[in-house]
Amino acid sequence: MSRILVIEDTEDNRRILRDLLTHAGFTLTEAGDGERGVALALSEKPDLILMDMQLPVIDGYEAARRIKADPAMRRTPIIAVTSYALSGDEAKARAAGCDAYVAKPFSPRQLLAKVKELLATKAERP
Ligand SMILES: [Mg+2]
Repeated sequence: MSRILVIEDTEDNRRILRDLLTHAGFTLTEAGDGERGVALALSEKPDLILMDMQLPVIDGYEAARRIKADPAMRRTPIIAVTSYALSGDEAKARAAGCDAYVAKPFSPRQLLAKVKELLATKAERP
């Protein structure tokens, strides 16, 4: 059973992700700000992280950098979820260590496919 950490400050968005992912059989941990998200990532060591990039305390970019700086978390996939489909946004997320990028509003089916794909290829990553 794969464990997913959702770092998202908007309760409505957390509820959508919770419904989608628990229905698909995943176990969820949730954080409402970047600092708490980093702390949970490092203590719980989830199998995958869904990261909102617009977060209070520290944003998703800085949170991703801190998580990926831990050698134990280097191979754990982070999916960046952003409200701003700005050009350069995906490159910025990837530079911060995110492995994939999804713009809001996302298609639940496509997000689920992305989660499964990244979990399946995690073991192959350097
Ligand atoms: Mg947000």
